[in-house]
Amino acid sequence: MSNTIWVLIELENGQPARSSLEVLGKAAKLGRAEAVVLGAAAAEVAPILGAYGAEKVYVHADATYDNYLTLPAVDTLSALLNDHQPRLLLLATTYELRDIAARLMVRNNLGLITDATDLAFAGEELQVTVPWGGENVVTATHPHQGTGIVLTRPKAFAVEQFDGRTPEVETLSVSINSAAQAIKIVDSVDVASEGPALEDASIIVSGGRGLGKAENFQLVEALAKALQGAPGATRAIVDAGWLPYSYQIGQTGKTVKPTLYVAAGISGAIQHLAGMKGSKYIIAINKDENAPIFSVADLGVIGDALTILPQLTEEVKRRKA
Ligand SMILES: Cc1cc2nc3c(=O)[nH]c(=O)nc-3n(C[C@H](O)[C@H](O)[C@H](O)COP(=O)(O)OP(=O)(O)OC[C@H]3O[C@@H](n4cnc5c(N)ncnc54)[C@H](O)[C@@H]3O)c2cc1C
Repeated sequence: MSNTIWVLIELENGQPARSSLEVLGKAAKLGRAEAVVLGAAAAEVAPILGAYGAEKVYVHADATYDNYLTLPAVDTLSALLNDHQPRLLLLATTYELRDIAARLMVRNNLGLITDATDLAFAGEELQVTVPWGGENVVTATHPHQGTGIVLTRPKAFAVEQFDGRTPEVETLSVSINSAAQAIKIVDSVDVASEGPALEDASIIVSGGRGLGKAENFQLVEALAKALQGAPGATRAIVDAGWLPYSYQIGQTGKTVKPTLYVAAGISGAIQHLAGMKGSKYIIAINKDENAPIFSVADLGVIGDALTILPQLTEEVKRRKA
């Protein structure tokens, strides 16, 4: 019998999050994929999950999951896992799902592997690929013993299409304990940004400490805007307070895979490469010809980013005019 693999689907504005669909596609390639959707929009979302690989969907359409942080979902999932004991529960690494995974692990005494970039079965054993310290990779194994929980890295897998698949939908009748309604979401604020989100952008222009000072980051933003891309950053300049954490790309930031990644004033530390080396084309601008970023670059420009970035922006604008 094939392995049953559950995926918890996160909802964003009533739609399944792309990161959850990526994980669902991977689950469907590994075994029998079953999805769990919790939230006011769960019933509407359930039928469309077949096209992304789900053979069955467990649904609890209740706004409590949207209005209270994590605990209601942890209660419902704990009971479900206990009843059904799937081989695996996969979750995309997001703030909310990370929290849920950790609580499920502790409450149910289950094994949890984080930051996975690939999964495969070797007989009964699950082998999980986890990047470790930049370029190194370790294979963690999960013996067949209870449900294994795995948090996967965003963009590790592509969204897969399973045309014509119609999932069986099971509507759960669960009552949510009032004790789980402890952390109420009082407000949620969308971070205003002009261009595409960093995770979805097909062009990213990133800046690092080589820009010299925070005000010079506008040179990166201007090129990103001209290319209709998104600006990104290294940890060095996020830690320096130039930009919020949401801009950070790398091992402890976001993982991106754009078609084009422009790195300006970035040395190319392994922790930064871990988040962007899957980009299709990489252009590096650095005044040190020995900078490690050039080892992953398709095109290297040795020079001053403060001079080259505005020239590039003007040229892009001129050609687009
Ligand atoms: C556990 C851990 C996790 C980490 N996670 C991350 C992470 O997620 N993301 C991340 O980015 N880093 C991460 N780091 C930090 C990482 O090791 C590097 O310190 C960081 O990436 C360096 O950022 P940088 O390239 O901006 O700065 P630097 O390494 O200081 O490089 C600046 C570069 O700019 C060049 N330069 C200087 N002036 C100019 C100019 N005028 N024009 C062109 N080039 C110029 C220099 O030659 C140099 O190569 C992590 C570190 C640790 C220990």
